[in-house]
Amino acid sequence: MAIDLRSDTVTRPTLAMRDAMATAPVGDDQFGEDPTVQQLQDRIASELGKAAALWLPTGTMANQVVLRALTRPGDDVIVSRESHAVWHEAGAGAANSGVQFTEIGADGVFTPEELAVAIKPRGHILYPPTTLVEIENTHNRTGGIVFPQEQVVGVCDLARARGIATFLDGARLWNAAVASNRTVAELAAPFDVVGVALSKGLGAPGGSMLAGSADVIAGCVRHRRMLGGAMRQVGIFAAAGLHALDHHYARLADDHAHARLIADRLAVVPQVLLDPTRVRTNIVVFKLGEKAPDAATVVARAKAAGVLVVAFGPRTVRAVTHLDVSRDACVQAAEVLAGLIATA
Ligand SMILES: *Cc1c(COP(=O)(O)O)cnc(C)c1O
Repeated sequence: MAIDLRSDTVTRPTLAMRDAMATAPVGDDQFGEDPTVQQLQDRIASELGKAAALWLPTGTMANQVVLRALTRPGDDVIVSRESHAVWHEAGAGAANSGVQFTEIGADGVFTPEELAVAIKPRGHILYPPTTLVEIENTHNRTGGIVFPQEQVVGVCDLARARGIATFLDGARLWNAAVASNRTVAELAAPFDVVGVALSKGLGAPGGSMLAGSADVIAGCVRHRRMLGGAMRQVGIFAAAGLHALDHHYARLADDHAHARLIADRLAVVPQVLLDPTRVRTNIVVFKLGEKAPDAATVVARAKAAGVLVVAFGPRTVRAVTHLDVSRDACVQAAEVLAGLIATA
């Protein structure tokens, strides 16, 4: 079987997780009658230190719901460069909420100073008003970068002072927590609304959550329905999420170690451009130098050799570790990738 490093979403539910799903008490979640969803929502709200939480089928929908709840058409939303909202949501922010995005900073992060110069004030005769600032932690396209928390606090303080709402796209917030040795509540504290995914490193087959004040989450309930994401007996998914929180959180450190060993191996290949010390979570994004084959060739050759990775650009490749790949598999995959890149 191939060693699948395309994403941490490729994991399959374990037998124990399937058991938990099979035996979960369920009800109609649109009537607020699914006890397992209620339990997961309460648990996520409390772990993230927010008043309320809401289950959603996907992280993309969570991000869309937040845009609908916190912005108006024509508004400006400030995000990091290469953010998921701009690159990986098929243009949904423009189509569903009519917002424009302003990408700032570098390497997936930005400073309060960079935010200050990008903010467009309300009431200006020319400017689209900035009404939301969004931080992605960890940041996917730059290689699972953890947003420095002191900068997060500075960004959110400035936004609040300027009457701008704050949103944390924390699809991989548990990875950020493990890598920075902080709780998810600490990482979430500066924000009005936080999104997290159960279907990434935690290994559930689906489900993302939003957490925030009771008012904001009440608004999100309506927009989830408007976007067609209000479901019925989703306790089956919620049970997988609860199981993942109990059993798959502590082991994220293994994924981070595995990503680092892949990065360390690739970094000694002269044709690879990669600083392995930047790899602190479960994502390895590396560039291919002039003497290396291009990304499409590397992806195709790796596939032929039983290793699956994805191209993130003409000369950029991503590999992601997760609970379905062992340390040995990662060592082997790194060897395969290093070999086929070195033999251009
Ligand atoms: C995966 C991801 C999402 C969206 O999750 P889906 O469940 O795939 O829709 C949102 N933000 C980030 C940063 C992600 O990595």
